[in-house]
This record gives sequence, structure tokens and C-alpha cells, in this order.
Amino acid sequence: MAQQAVEELWIEEPHLRALITAIFAKAGSSPQECEIVTRHLLEANLRGHDSHGVGMVPAYIANALEGEMQLNHTPRKILDQGNMLIFDGELGLGQSMATYVVNEAINRAKDTGSCVLALRNSHHIGRIGHWSEQCAAQGLVSLHFVNVVSKPSVAPFGGRASRLGTNPVSIGIPRKEALPLIVDFATSQLAVGKIRVAYNKGVAAPEGALIDSTGQPTTNPAALFEEPYGALRSFGEHKGWALAFACEALAAALSGGKTQSGPKSRNAIINSLFSIVVSPEKMGTQDSYFSELEEFIRWVQLPPDGQDPSVLLPGDPERQKRADRLKHGIPVDGTTFQQLLETGKSVGLTEAEMRAMAQPQTAPRP
Ligand code: NAD
Repeated sequence: MAQQAVEELWIEEPHLRALITAIFAKAGSSPQECEIVTRHLLEANLRGHDSHGVGMVPAYIANALEGEMQLNHTPRKILDQGNMLIFDGELGLGQSMATYVVNEAINRAKDTGSCVLALRNSHHIGRIGHWSEQCAAQGLVSLHFVNVVSKPSVAPFGGRASRLGTNPVSIGIPRKEALPLIVDFATSQLAVGKIRVAYNKGVAAPEGALIDSTGQPTTNPAALFEEPYGALRSFGEHKGWALAFACEALAAALSGGKTQSGPKSRNAIINSLFSIVVSPEKMGTQDSYFSELEEFIRWVQLPPDGQDPSVLLPGDPERQKRADRLKHGIPVDGTTFQQLLETGKSVGLTEAEMRAMAQPQTAPRP
């Protein structure tokens, strides 16, 4: 492994919230933006996607300080025609950009039945399931395709060199009297952030996720962070690669944004988003949609032998993790915590005040 194993800390949700809010406030985000970005990042940690949680803060703040990301920005509307909306994020803080444009799409879909939404050239928009949840909370079905323009990290199926990003896809499926189903994953075997977490912790990456610079399988997470660089593999062999390709076509090319068509050219992590938001109510299928969905769920979870069902639905693992982390605290590895402290110092906070806010513990709360 590239690094020594590091200690794990546990921080309770309100304390971590206080620390992250303070960092963004000190960097210059408005109180509303602080609330939006902190809630988004903490929800990613609570749901077990540490790759897209507070560990992103050092990169976000570094980008803001070097002019590679705009705080307190409003997306620029490029097209508003029928049920089609296009916005340019102009490298605004991604959580603010996506919250704004998804809300616009929700309003349009409630009015007309559907909305085709594109947000191009935003800074990183984080955990994509968050945007499915925003739509599902309003009773709307939604599909989201995202491309990433940054340092390429994924090799196309059949290739050996990193050529594209981890291009995530999410689908939000609201239910009548239950929490929505949220499909949300990268088209690579793993998100880059999950390899970063393994690298920071000094542990091996899961088998099958990485190749080294010669194209051979490796579990060393340094393959993504140290020369000679290797690459992530797509999930599901050719299928993940084909879906990742569709993300470039829809989220970037069709939206008027940029595909990953060369090596990293700037420090910003750029996401473009293509979404379709649909109202089952306006489609006139709401009753059968709800009843068929419940019938299907009942059928797939029906135990063949009378035992408890072990089939989970998309979104279930995240809900279970959330309950656990609210109770026991959020694990933050020591390297990530140190990076947060350095980031806080870069915007003028002192280590003493940040430690007092975060109150890190060396064991989970019982
Ligand atoms: P993952 O491999 O953990 O898959 C998560 C999905 O699988 C969820 O929908 C989850 O509910 C579902 N799931 C997991 N176990 C299940 C089970 N047993 N039964 C049914 N469903 C199950 O996710 P990932 O690929 O590591 O992605 C992590 C996060 O990274 C996502 O939130 C994604 O949006 C985000 N991401 C963002 C970017 C970006 O550029 N903004 C890029 C890549 C990934």
C-alpha cells in the first residue's frame, strides 16, 4: 500500500455540520449556500457514500480559492422552450447549481407533465441520488445522467488508458406511502472517491476495480494517485462503458457542454447533467403506477421459504446506513480530518476552534 493505515475518528452529525458550515462561511458562501452544500455533503456521509461527503471539501475550497469554482453564483438560463430547460452553471458551486435547476425542472414538470433539463459546466454536483430525492419528494419520477470533466480515471472497456470520468447515473422512483427507491451509482466499478478513501486509510481497494499502468488487475489504490497511473474499470464489463458513453453524449454533447475529450486541462471538477423529470399524475397513470410498483415489490421480496426477505430495494442500504450513523456518529479517517483542518486554516479558521466544533472521538458512540 502507498500509505500507512491511519486512525479512524467518529464525529457526530451536528458537530461535523458545524465544522463544514464554518469552513464554507469563512470561504465566503452565503448562509443559504452554506446550508445547501453542508446538508448535501453530510447526507452523502450519512448514507455511507463517504466518497462524496465532507472529504470533497478540500478540493472544493482549493478550487474556490484559485478561481476554479464560483461561490454564490446563480446558473445562467440558456434555453426555456416548452418543457426544455438548459442552464449553464459557469463553474458555480455544484450543490447550489443543481438545487436551483432541479427545482426549476420540478416546477415545469408539475405544470406540463415533464421536463427535459440540462445543466452544463457546473462545478461538481456531488451525490446524484440527492437530485433524484429532490424530485421524488415532489412525487416526480426522474432520470439523471452526468459526465465528469477532470483528470480521466476510467479506462473504456477493452482499453488500458484512463480516458473518461466515473459518469454517474441516478433514477428516482417515488412510492405512495413509503420512501422512494433511489438508483444511484457510478458507471465505473467504484467511485474515485471510494479509492481515495482506501488510499487515505492505507487499505487495499476491492478486487476487480482497478488496473495498473500495464493493464493488469491491482488492488493498490495508489494506481489512481501516483505515477505510473493505472485506471478504474467500468462496472459490468462492456455495459458500464456503454452507459458511461451515453452520459458523455447526453449530459455533455447534447446539453452544449464539454465532453472529456483530452487530458485534465484545469483544476476544476466539472459536471454536466442531463435529467428527465416526469409527473405520474399528469401522465394519468398515477394510480396504476403506485399499485403495480407495490405489487412488484411484494413479489420480489416474497420469501420462497417463509423466512424474512433478504432482498433489498435501491435506496435501502443508504437508509440503513443513515440510521446507524445518526446513532453512532460519522466515521472520518484521520487523513481526511487533517485535510479538513488544513482547509479550514486556508480560509482563516484556527485548529483549536475547528477541533472544538468537530469534537472528534476515537470510537463510535455506543
Ligand atoms: P454503489 O456502488 O454503492 O451503488 C449504490 C446504488 O446501489 C444505490 O442506488 C444503492 O441503493 C444500490 N444498492 C446497493 N446495494 C444494493 C442491494 N443489495 N440491493 C439493491 N440496491 C442496492 O455506488 P457508487 O457507484 O460507489 O457511487 C457512489 C456515489 O458516488 C453515488 O452517490 C454517485 O452519484 C456518486 N458519484 C458522483 C459523481 C460525480 O461526478 N458527481 C461521479 C461518480 C459517482
